[in-house]
Amino acid sequence: MGVPLYLEPRLTPRLVSLLASGRFLHTLVAGLGSPLNVVLPDGIADNLGRFRSVYRTHRLSGQIFFAHKANRSSALVRRLAATDAGLDVASLGELRHALGAGFAPGRIMATGPKNPEFLWLAARTGVLVHVDGRAELDELAALVRRYALPPARVLLRLAGFTSEGSRLLTRPSRFGTPAGELGDVLATLERYPVELRPVGVGYHLDTTSLDEKAVALEGCVRAMDECRSRGLDPRIIDIGGGFGVSYLADGEQWERYTTELTRAVMGQRPALTWRRHGYGLRHEAGTLRGSLALYPAHRPVAAEQYLDALLSRPAPTLGRPLATLLLEGLYDLCTEPGRALADQCGVTLARVLEVRRTENGERLVRLAANADDVALEEHGVLMDPVLVPAEDGRAPAADGPVGVLLAGNLCLEADMITRRTVFLPRLPHPGDLLAFANTAGYCMDFRAGEAQRQPVARKVAAWQDDEGERDDGAARAGRGEQDGLEAQDAEDGSGEAPWRWCLDEEYWPVAQYAPHHTAARPGGHAGGGA
Ligand SMILES: *Cc1c(COP(=O)(O)O)cnc(C)c1O
Repeated sequence: MGVPLYLEPRLTPRLVSLLASGRFLHTLVAGLGSPLNVVLPDGIADNLGRFRSVYRTHRLSGQIFFAHKANRSSALVRRLAATDAGLDVASLGELRHALGAGFAPGRIMATGPKNPEFLWLAARTGVLVHVDGRAELDELAALVRRYALPPARVLLRLAGFTSEGSRLLTRPSRFGTPAGELGDVLATLERYPVELRPVGVGYHLDTTSLDEKAVALEGCVRAMDECRSRGLDPRIIDIGGGFGVSYLADGEQWERYTTELTRAVMGQRPALTWRRHGYGLRHEAGTLRGSLALYPAHRPVAAEQYLDALLSRPAPTLGRPLATLLLEGLYDLCTEPGRALADQCGVTLARVLEVRRTENGERLVRLAANADDVALEEHGVLMDPVLVPAEDGRAPAADGPVGVLLAGNLCLEADMITRRTVFLPRLPHPGDLLAFANTAGYCMDFRAGEAQRQPVARKVAAWQDDEGERDDGAARAGRGEQDGLEAQDAEDGSGEAPWRWCLDEEYWPVAQYAPHHTAARPGGHAGGGA
């Protein structure tokens, strides 16, 4: 097999603890089926707190809107409702979900392509509308007028920024108005002084490039000047999402893996993928062609640290740090992190159904899940699953590290969970679980469907009780145990708080069945984040 090329997931202590609770996870899958998604609402509140602390460092105010589209979970959204977070909704369904989860309209922003019903409910409730361009301004103003709605607060989405000094361009986007056409948009706005209330400008760029984002942010500061010169009083600059996640624990593993993958494509070492898939790389007449179409799975700077790096940067032409420009204008900074707020907030569990050898000697592990249930590959994220052995008393195989192909449960040649050979510390047995860590951002339910009537993963929320509550037998008896399920293994000796769970849909951030407890959620502190 050669040296195993591991791509081990980065795991925060909360996920380490969950994945070490084998009996708990196996009981959940036994009861609820495979695949199974587990979300961790307290994780998203912690992530929010980390973003908020970057705001504090730079003395900036403004809202942090979680981009709901990253995950359909109710538990994650309801947990955030108990903090000071905002919610970025991109459909009628998401807006209804946000309102029903306890987000007051002042904490919601409507983005993305909008149908009339979505736009109407946004305007009716007074949600901030991130408008794409002039046509949407016309449509929104017409709705407000026709149905006598309150004036709609609007944020102008810009795109296509240029920076003359550095001759940098931001990449083209299907959304937003080119920054150079702001004048036309403002002219449209001025036709609706009663119907529309402009509150600022924003962008969302799907890129990892800090250079491009700095150009866009400076472009927004200039756009605010232009708004002011026309007599408007805009307050908000919204820099969208795209702060990224670092998925892997070890940068060297990532470097080594991509180097070996390149060598494999060039035929300089045995294949590392199913049917010699090259992830964008090709070997043509002795030369390497194409480019690696993968998410940069190990990122030294991601999430709130990426926000910090952006704000600390000098503006490309104005020179002063971008945070300083925001402070000088007394602007509120809004952000819309999706993936970064969902970081470490969930795992997807899949049961091993079969382990066999293919005719060319490869080990094939077939799972009770398919590629749409674990969409890491779809997002270009290469990361090893964690083996959670069945607790059936069987001795673990003593055969050591092994390279396997992970196949899905569909009757399709192409249904591979990943096209690469995955190295595991030992060969799994049928009945073991593979836990795909960190799937809450886009990789859990964005694509999952009912192909072949295979079950769609159920979703549960899991949490641990706080330190103080742990010794409180009465509180414990009142919570979570109505289902009789507990992570005994975590309780045995480790001193760790046991894991609790409920169906995602049943989760509310309020203490249940424990009247003497006034905590704001099952298992914990009120609020958080701010
Ligand atoms: C998808 C999206 C986001 C979130 O992007 P992430 O990369 O998940 O942070 C934010 N804003 C808009 C408008 C989006 O479409």
